[in-house]
Amino acid sequence: MEETRNFIEKIIEDDLANNRVPDGKIRTRFPPEPNGYLHIGHIKAICVDFGMAQKYGGTCNLRLDDTNPAKEDNEYIDSIKTDIKWLGFDWGKNEYYASDYYQQLYEIALDLIRKGLAYVDSQTPEEVKLNRGTLTAPGVNSPDRDRSIEENLRLFDEMKRGMYPEGKYLLRAKLDMASPNINMRDPALYRIKYATHPRTGDKWCIYPMYDFTHPISDAIEGITHSFCTLEFEDHRPAYDWACTIDGIEHAPHQYEFARLNISYFVLSKRKLLQLVQQKIVSGWDDPRMPTISGIRRRGYSPESMKDFVSRVGLAKVEGQVDYSLMEFCVREDLNRRARRVMAVLDPIKLIIDNYPADKTEFFDAENNPEDPDSGTRPISFSGEVYIEREDFMEVPPKGYHRLYIGNEIRLKHAYYVTATSCEKDAEGNVTAVHCTYDPESRGGATADGRKVKGTSHWVNAKDCLKAEARLYDKLFASENPGFATGNYLDDLNPDSLIVNSVAVVETSLKDSKPGDYLQFIRNGYFTPDIDSTSEHLVFNRTVTLKDSWAKTKEKMGL
Ligand code: ATP
Ligand code: MG
Repeated sequence: MEETRNFIEKIIEDDLANNRVPDGKIRTRFPPEPNGYLHIGHIKAICVDFGMAQKYGGTCNLRLDDTNPAKEDNEYIDSIKTDIKWLGFDWGKNEYYASDYYQQLYEIALDLIRKGLAYVDSQTPEEVKLNRGTLTAPGVNSPDRDRSIEENLRLFDEMKRGMYPEGKYLLRAKLDMASPNINMRDPALYRIKYATHPRTGDKWCIYPMYDFTHPISDAIEGITHSFCTLEFEDHRPAYDWACTIDGIEHAPHQYEFARLNISYFVLSKRKLLQLVQQKIVSGWDDPRMPTISGIRRRGYSPESMKDFVSRVGLAKVEGQVDYSLMEFCVREDLNRRARRVMAVLDPIKLIIDNYPADKTEFFDAENNPEDPDSGTRPISFSGEVYIEREDFMEVPPKGYHRLYIGNEIRLKHAYYVTATSCEKDAEGNVTAVHCTYDPESRGGATADGRKVKGTSHWVNAKDCLKAEARLYDKLFASENPGFATGNYLDDLNPDSLIVNSVAVVETSLKDSKPGDYLQFIRNGYFTPDIDSTSEHLVFNRTVTLKDSWAKTKEKMGL
């Protein structure tokens, strides 16, 4: 099958083939602003920036776009690095900060002023906005547009020395207030901001704007292909203008692709920050968050997410991807890698009356039928085990093939058992089930070859471990959070977390650690939470299994 290339690959291959790339080495960059944690949308950008560099033997810089000290933090920088590495990408020594270029940017700005190409504007922010015009009406020149070069130099210097309050002055490029592109109507280059910067501290109180900083940072680093999302398309003329400023020797090119949007998700750092600040979630790494740290804690693998973004593909039109495609990728990957273990989430005791008292025996349980190299582990068995409460019914409906009095089922890896009676409390709730086992059925098959329709998982009641299971669902109950009311917080799913503290698990999970991918047989994929210890095991449900019984139940209206 011929490999189909996306539009970005075509651009790169065309540039390489026509010697438009110095040394034939493409250079990209991933430029997050450290004002929040990375989310699933960023995985797409990371796979483009790092992925293309990797594919074509180039390099990808990590550039922290740290030009808004009021919102940025070292905690975010650290998390960004951790997340990119977790995805399996490496920037090597190429770690840069927009703030590394503050001095250069400042000198470029001075030069623009000296050449009469930039001016200090004293309009209020409201006036600036008003006079910028609209998509249909041209802007109005600032009364300060023709301020003398000397005065511009003096005012810019005084701005830099902290003599004016925020919002008092703005340095703007003198382009064209009548341009059909609003971003070309004298874009702001510098603003006054009093905030301690995570890296430059209080050295600066004027900060360069995105449309000025970004292209020049790209140019300084020798970036050949500067990829970003579609909302920057309208900024491309400003990007190209900045690359023509005197002294800029290398002109990179910007290319835009569609953002990743996923149904049921909000992917905006501003909204995610609000969820954290309002304590709607436990933090940026809450397993319900679409942040990389959230999905990692939830148990998604980096491979499944890379597979997901590659299936979504690269387009130039915005669209929304269905949440279920992401879960499909997660299940597919976990099906291959997850170790199968037994855990009972809603336990009820099954007492095997004809099993020798005080006897314990062991079975070899396969770790993963999908992976022949994964081996087996011993699991212990005795005359008392726990099974799921829903695996026994006193009065079974038609089509129910699990345990009921007189019915025989298989205990996974162990024996065939037949229910004989049950115990109940004063309210009539079943508290224990009695059964007999067939000693000839060891390992799950009988000499006479008789078949049973049900198989239940179980754990040995005599040595199992208690565990907390955190059952996660979507954080939002609506496909487009906020679509109906305008406030995405109106669409929170009240059942996005259900804590189960009665679960019991097999002993092999005693020392399980975050990053272990597990399948609790018939209950879903799980992973140990970062809160988990050997004394207090905590498991996060990553994603449910497709449960055929749930579907049957639905069909039968049960
Ligand atoms: P947000 O809108 O969530 O606050 P942002 O665009 O401000 O995100 P940045 O840190 O500036 O976040 O983004 C770094 C890079 O990631 C940019 O190149 C941006 O285009 C890209 N990016 C951000 N969100 C998405 C998304 N949903 N899909 C694809 N790429 C994205
Ligand atoms: Mg941004």
